[in-house]
Amino acid sequence: MTEIDSPARMRIEVRGSVQGVGFRPFAYRLADELRLSGWIVNDNRGVAIEVEGERARVEEFALRLAREKPAIATIAAMTTAWCPPTGIPGFEIRKSQETGAKTVPILPDLATCPACLCEVLDPADRRHRYPFANCTHCGPRFSIVRALPYDRPNTTMARFAMCPACRREYEDPRDRRFHAQPIACAVCGPSLSYLDASGKETARRDEALAEAVARLTRGEVIAVKGIGGFHLMVDARSGEAVAKLRTRKPRREKPLAVMAADLRQARELCVLNAQEEAALASPEAPILLARRGDRCAVHPTVAPSNPYLGVMLAYTPLHHLLLRGCGFPLVATSGNLAEEPICTSEDEAVRRLAGIADGYLIHDRPIARHVDDSIVWFLDGDVRVLRRARGFAPRPVSCGHELPSILAVGAHLKNAVALSAGRDVFVSQHIGDMEAVESTLAFERVIDDFLRLYEARPVAIAHDLHPDYFTTRWARGQGLPLIGVQHHHAHLASCLADNDVAGPALGVTWDGTGLGLDGSVWGGEFLKGEASSSERVAHLRTFRLPGGDAAVREPRRSAVSLLWELFGDGAFEREDLEPVRSLSSADRRVLAVMLDRGVSAPVTSSAGRLFDGVASLTGLTQVSAFEGQAAMALEFVADESVRDAYPLPVTRGATDDAPLVVDWRPLVLAVLDDVARKTPAPSISARFHQALAEAIAAVAREIGLEHVALSGGCFQNRLLTARTVAALRSAGHHVLLHRRVPPGDGGIALGQIAAAAARLKTEL
Ligand code: ZN
Ligand code: ZN
Ligand code: FE
Repeated sequence: MTEIDSPARMRIEVRGSVQGVGFRPFAYRLADELRLSGWIVNDNRGVAIEVEGERARVEEFALRLAREKPAIATIAAMTTAWCPPTGIPGFEIRKSQETGAKTVPILPDLATCPACLCEVLDPADRRHRYPFANCTHCGPRFSIVRALPYDRPNTTMARFAMCPACRREYEDPRDRRFHAQPIACAVCGPSLSYLDASGKETARRDEALAEAVARLTRGEVIAVKGIGGFHLMVDARSGEAVAKLRTRKPRREKPLAVMAADLRQARELCVLNAQEEAALASPEAPILLARRGDRCAVHPTVAPSNPYLGVMLAYTPLHHLLLRGCGFPLVATSGNLAEEPICTSEDEAVRRLAGIADGYLIHDRPIARHVDDSIVWFLDGDVRVLRRARGFAPRPVSCGHELPSILAVGAHLKNAVALSAGRDVFVSQHIGDMEAVESTLAFERVIDDFLRLYEARPVAIAHDLHPDYFTTRWARGQGLPLIGVQHHHAHLASCLADNDVAGPALGVTWDGTGLGLDGSVWGGEFLKGEASSSERVAHLRTFRLPGGDAAVREPRRSAVSLLWELFGDGAFEREDLEPVRSLSSADRRVLAVMLDRGVSAPVTSSAGRLFDGVASLTGLTQVSAFEGQAAMALEFVADESVRDAYPLPVTRGATDDAPLVVDWRPLVLAVLDDVARKTPAPSISARFHQALAEAIAAVAREIGLEHVALSGGCFQNRLLTARTVAALRSAGHHVLLHRRVPPGDGGIALGQIAAAAARLKTEL
């Protein structure tokens, strides 16, 4: 016998997202095709395989296993080793082992795959028009898991007993639905109901769907139960329907997301490049912020004065049927009030959405946990995450090194929490602003859930330094060692971890608000350092925030404060300026007292508030409906062909080792000159953005580090980010931008973990 003919046996271990994605049936079919014997088994770290047969075929198996794996499977590591042949014929899928640490990732909820969609649209298929079709390549996962291991009895599908036809598919290793835990059909699975405004059921199954389509077509507001919660939906083309939704919710001006039936419809709404199209059609199916097209049918009030539109594709068979039934794009905004978490149960929806929805399209598959839609954008050559939820959570963000088990409770706004285990950081789905009771309850639920699912025993809790944040107070009540992490240091550490860079780096951390080490409100910071520690090497010149949080809602307060720093009480006589004119004389007196005496007027170096002030001086926004609105107005109005900049000098601090100060006074004076000269807002905005970008580059030059990390909510401004990146690169810097977690406060928890882990390490 030559070596070619003698049987060989190989052991292959695969780590990564390889469970619940059809990996075993795929391996089974491949072994079958190559006439190999052996077995495959799921273990707690991935899958283990042994294959035996002709050596060349065994080698081919290993190659093709990695190359042809199911699209949604991700292989983190694969090892192969030859072992002695056994001569046992046949290939089997062995029963899972349940030993060892639970490091198998739970999969996120995945959009309907092309094969399932074909079946749903095929009149001859047994799942024709079935709204809950799924397979091992697609369907709900994270939103239905109640416990690990991921098996049907541990999901919210436990209450549905499989019919014989589904059972056959579930047990057939050659079938696409082999061990698809949420497998279902019209005979045995979940079904639809339609409830009227009072919560009374008026139609079922296909008639329920038809009722929802008819009402949406008439311009009504329908609450639709999806994967991770309820959406409120209306005809996106109808100004009247959108106005109805906005007055009821209430959500006056904040942009709303739109769901399109497919890529073809999305292309009619937005201008898309190949990477954006791929992101839309990916299993994650996020909301993509894309430039609105010239002939976009979506009514302008869906995203007022905004050149971008948040668009996503239908991602469940229910959405596909709904969108096809309607024939027009639908507004799909989360079914909640303001910044509260999304509703997940029928009872909750009927209670909380009463007076908002005209009817409810619901189903009887329970949602185990809320998962919002994710948001991404295309920036600097890559698709990047702005809100991390459905499709991404709870996939871990892997760090290159072992971490102790730490729970990070995140920030106050746009909260998300994180938990480290091994080399992985599990970043939770978006939770929301910790202002409402509903949000704080969701926060506690998510933490509970994480600790239970991963059987984690954190050794410490990382939290923000702000003593009054709900998250900080909660952390204090847990009886575990606490590690406080300054807000902007967490932004820097998050950006480094997101990019797998150790540092040191210059962290440009610009946002609205974060408690600084000196007790003032920081937000225009330059921090030099790494995860373990950093030093504040520069910041924006400070000013006061008259009324504190009220200044966030009223950009004119920031404007008046900037004027007051320049002109003292003379600021209030500037009747030529919009912010001053818009204030009553009583308001002006109150503000003057606050500024003169420094009462209820905290000192800040916030870049977000500087944006507010300039937007207000330019006459764009005096009172905003949501945080960031003024900055968005300023960004969107910019004339990108204007390349010159206002003066924004970087000056030495009081002492040699004091931080540098980026002095906005010459900039604001130049803005005032332009306003007086009636220079159009688009030019003022462009010069302002360019000035900030050049000042950042100037500080980076002073500090002299190669790596510059951009983090904080201000870097959700496309123009600021693009111009800053250009200025830094032309000076030879390596720029780090967020990729896997948001630059805003949704990314804070990752930074808290990185910082706390580094600190624990240095203390040992
Ligand atoms: Zn499928
Ligand atoms: Zn069935
Ligand atoms: Fe922040």
